[in-house]
Amino acid sequence: MKTINKGFRKLGRDYIFDEIGKKAEEKENRGEELIRVSTGDAVFPLGKTVTEALVSAAAETGTDEGFRGYPPVSGYGFLKCAIRRKYLGLRVEVKENEIYVGNGTKSDISGFFDLFDSASVIVPDPGYPVYGDSCAISGLKAELLKGSFENGFLPAPCDLKTPVRKAVIILCSPANPTGEAYPEEVLRSWVLFAIRTRSVILFDAAYEAYIKDSTIPRSIYAVEGASLCAVEFGSFSKSAGFTGLRCSYTIIPENLRFGGENLGKLWARRQSSKFNGVPYIVQKAAEAALSPEGRKESEAVVGIYGNNAFELRKAFLNRGIRCCGGVNSPYVWVACPKNATSARTADDLLNRAGVVVTPGTGFGKNGEGFIRLSGFLKPEKLPELLGRLNSFYDRSCGFIGEDL
Ligand code: PLP
Repeated sequence: MKTINKGFRKLGRDYIFDEIGKKAEEKENRGEELIRVSTGDAVFPLGKTVTEALVSAAAETGTDEGFRGYPPVSGYGFLKCAIRRKYLGLRVEVKENEIYVGNGTKSDISGFFDLFDSASVIVPDPGYPVYGDSCAISGLKAELLKGSFENGFLPAPCDLKTPVRKAVIILCSPANPTGEAYPEEVLRSWVLFAIRTRSVILFDAAYEAYIKDSTIPRSIYAVEGASLCAVEFGSFSKSAGFTGLRCSYTIIPENLRFGGENLGKLWARRQSSKFNGVPYIVQKAAEAALSPEGRKESEAVVGIYGNNAFELRKAFLNRGIRCCGGVNSPYVWVACPKNATSARTADDLLNRAGVVVTPGTGFGKNGEGFIRLSGFLKPEKLPELLGRLNSFYDRSCGFIGEDL
């Protein structure tokens, strides 16, 4: 075992969602009816427009004329063109040669770490666990960027503890797990900071579709200067329900350099060695998701998930429980009762209310004292969920760790 990548030893036990899933599954196998608000997985079927595009593309590839073999590694022109149009709608100019289609933001971001050697990586904590795991596996040093109620869970450059130079800065907005979205002025401060310190920002925009507030940027490129220092990752998972289908894109401005190298060229080179492209039928489905009809269908579903989260937020705030998110995001980040750990609160909710949530520590050490609930739920289950939560918190009198 001496030759194994030591980075794996730095990882936590199982990936957090597998661990929670196993506990919940055992209960369900015993006949318990649980309500799951622990993951960010879609619960509605694909939209009609997307499904029709899939079926028609599948039929096309079953003909002599329509058959397609390996797709272009960086994606078909038709999808890049649709992505470019989506950005024009956000008043952002992106060129087709700056777009790299992928099979999910998880693999795009984790793969992107292949490009860096000894750079220090600034990782939001709490944050999407893939960032820290990818750093560990790549042998890169992670500097934690702490989110807390004090900084509104939107840490700014002034929250950094050590001087930074030529770093990789990961930002996620709207953020998983806290559900908070960066206002323009804070994003601008990150862009100026990155330019000044010759750093590069990796901007995870997986949840941009949930932004309702028109003053909040849905792309980092809406911020002046971002094309000099930022890469953006977008996904069809949370906007169009592609969690099973798998399609995403990475935007790398054509002149973006880091450590003296052109990042677009490096990424293209990396992809040609490790990736063989996204299936034609999936790219046709993604193109359909960006059509006016497809967008209407996705927006309806995103609206439902967003509304579920908003109702959860309201329910916690009405009880005087501190929480954030749930406005421009499908997630709500909720403080645990006094003296209760995240794990204890999540376990109690599972065992006593039949509600599956994610303990905050799954998102880093600064997640202790919080749980995350998601709005990815059929709306007819919402009243039952709110009822279970209310009676749970009534019974626990807000001191779960002490009296249950
Ligand atoms: N980025 C964030 C912040 C996420 O929370 C997730 C999934 O939960 C992803 C990316 C993964 O997206 P994809 O399904 O495109 O791999």
